[in-house]
Amino acid sequence: MNASLIFNLSLPELTSLLTEWDEPTYRARQIWQGLYHNFWNTPKEFTILPASLRQKLSESLEFNILVPTTTLQSSDGETIKTLCQLHDGKAIETVLMKYDPSAALRQFKRDNLGQGRRTLCISTQVGCAMGCVFCATGQMGFKRHLSSGEIVAQVMYFARLLHDQGEVVTNVVLMGMGEPFHNYDNTMAAIDRLNDPDGYNFGARRLTISTVGLVPAIRRFTAEKRQVHLAISLHAADDTLRTSMLPINNRYPIKELLEACRDYITATGRRITFEWAMVNGVNDTPDQAHLLASKLKGLLCHVNAIPLNPTEGYSGKATTRQRANEFIDILSKSGIPCTIRLRRGIDIKAGCGQLVSQV
Ligand code: SAH
Ligand code: SF4
Repeated sequence: MNASLIFNLSLPELTSLLTEWDEPTYRARQIWQGLYHNFWNTPKEFTILPASLRQKLSESLEFNILVPTTTLQSSDGETIKTLCQLHDGKAIETVLMKYDPSAALRQFKRDNLGQGRRTLCISTQVGCAMGCVFCATGQMGFKRHLSSGEIVAQVMYFARLLHDQGEVVTNVVLMGMGEPFHNYDNTMAAIDRLNDPDGYNFGARRLTISTVGLVPAIRRFTAEKRQVHLAISLHAADDTLRTSMLPINNRYPIKELLEACRDYITATGRRITFEWAMVNGVNDTPDQAHLLASKLKGLLCHVNAIPLNPTEGYSGKATTRQRANEFIDILSKSGIPCTIRLRRGIDIKAGCGQLVSQV
């Protein structure tokens, strides 16, 4: 469907297209550099190419496929959420979160960057088929997968925006709309394209994939031994509660999921993050904390607790500061590393899928 989107092409694919057009192959590399180093997003910016080739590019390939329709900035100016329209009129969300340099000083001393962290939260699908009851994207149902190019284009859109301000994207999290492991091939192709040392050269270690827990895909991901960080949306420590919040738990219950996680850690030596959206009186209880601690014992992991972002289709409320502190206290005392993540961009509906569902 998106065969003509330029961001769908790998460098070898672009090269063979140019060969078909009887163009010298070095032109492919020039285009690649223009896209991923100079962030050009219209054929007319490629003035290094002959006019005839620019013409051909604009006739055959789609460049600018993300049309921003709404951009919202949080009151502190640190979170920018963009709603983009795709070629078929469907909409996705991408969020840029800026963090103060002092918050990540160590990393940035190492990276020699004067700016703070610039984290992008990108989408992998329009809607989502997983139906998690508290999630705005889940509430809208599944519309379609994004192509690899549509995933890449979200990063390049913000890379260009930041570049114009003398800044760079430092981290990308696949925590926007959709379940990345339900769109496995396109997601991995997008990651490979972003990683390409001849292209954008974005390090795999700066990427985080978050999954609702599709066990076969976790096993496939394990076998591929990628450097990408893995986060698992756990949210509940017993099957009855987890199934009531995340219906996919029926198919892949906690025991099976944690076995796949244990195997991932053993095979890769990498730490897993477990996500926990804290819902008042539901999964923020001392009982859940104790049960979680017992299930995670011995796993190389970290629990990321975040107060629920309330959504229209779900009656649950966010936890309170006191309940959240008690919860992580229990985990910490049991030796499970745990942090409470700040809620970002609440005033601009920056929770997953919340802007799309409103518009
Ligand atoms: N589908 C993937 C990635 C997208 S959701 C996944 O579920 O992991 C990214 C994260 O946001 C997940 O941890 C998800 O559970 C969480 N999330 C979704 N809706 C939320 C809400 N209303 N409040 C807090 N976290 C939410
Ligand atoms: Fe889909 Fe993730 Fe939302 Fe669940 S939380 S419905 S998997 S996007």
